[in-house]
Amino acid sequence: MEKVVILGTGPAGLTAAVYLARANMNPLVIEGPEPGGQLTLTPEVENFPGFPEGIMGPELMDNMRKQAERFGAQFKRGWVTDVNVANRPFKLSVDGLGEIVTESLVISTGASAKLLEIPGEKENIGKGVSTCATCDGFFFRGKKVIIVGGGDSAMEEANFLTKFASEVQVVHRRKELRASKIMQDRAKSNEKVTWALNKTPVEMVSDDLKITGLKVRDNETGEEETIETNGIFVAIGHNPNTAFLKGKLDMDEKGYILVEPGTTNTNIPGVFACGDVQDQKYRQAITAAGTGCMAAMDTERFLEGEAVHDWSQTL
Ligand code: NAP
Repeated sequence: MEKVVILGTGPAGLTAAVYLARANMNPLVIEGPEPGGQLTLTPEVENFPGFPEGIMGPELMDNMRKQAERFGAQFKRGWVTDVNVANRPFKLSVDGLGEIVTESLVISTGASAKLLEIPGEKENIGKGVSTCATCDGFFFRGKKVIIVGGGDSAMEEANFLTKFASEVQVVHRRKELRASKIMQDRAKSNEKVTWALNKTPVEMVSDDLKITGLKVRDNETGEEETIETNGIFVAIGHNPNTAFLKGKLDMDEKGYILVEPGTTNTNIPGVFACGDVQDQKYRQAITAAGTGCMAAMDTERFLEGEAVHDWSQTL
């Protein structure tokens, strides 16, 4: 039986692994379908403290992994299909690994940015297509960019991108924006923000090396046009990776795990959640890493409490 299993290898899971390994808890880390998490989609990370010259996303994640391994964390590849957290010890069904039994569980499976799923999108991520303005906006200084989406994220990111870009065009599939009035007003009063409403993106156009345009269809006339651009930011929401936990833990209506404020405690004692799987507000590598550290400390305290409890029972 494992003492603790960590699900996910983004900054939250790997930070939890470093802390738990250093605390001699021998964590087993299950690496899912996106090893390293969203940061592996970001070529260069310039806002993770400690790297004055910046660091490549995959390299940062590789470093975190090596750091956890150095202290004894074990890594296994597998796809968790089911969990039983109704009783302890918890049981995990993992494709490729079979059943794993554990005293405690840290869930750091992250959230995946929703994509438009149109031609030219996936292959150009990191080559002009991004799902994170905070991460990549800086690379578009003086350039023209498009942001797709009509929610608060799109408005917030449109404003943020005007710090760098010469023009930020919001492309949204409806005439009305979904964003709150205050966020809309802020974007509308920004002179660098322009609007292409009621237009559905149909294709991302590139010259093989970089993005050159976004082809859109006007929903009223059906006409298609290609809007020239140097970069496309997709801000149409995120999906937390919690499908396998449905009905097992308390979550909000979107599937984000609910934790007790100021902790990583879920409603099940011994199950902790950290990183983007429980955070739809900050979603930064550094905040994910911070909550990963919290989860490790919460787990350690939980297991130590149990040990004291078990020991006293035997007296
Ligand atoms: P959201 O509110 O779900 O908005 C997603 C937007 O993307 C919508 O406008 C939607 O269009 C569009 N969209 C979705 N799928 C699409 C597709 N396949 N093709 C084209 N467009 C698509 O997501 P969000 O903006 O990321 O916000 C998530 C939550 O965080 C919200 O509760 C938001 O209020 C909150 N948030 C708050 C702040 C803040 O207050 N500072 C900042 C960011 C986020 P439709 O409108 O047509 O559905």
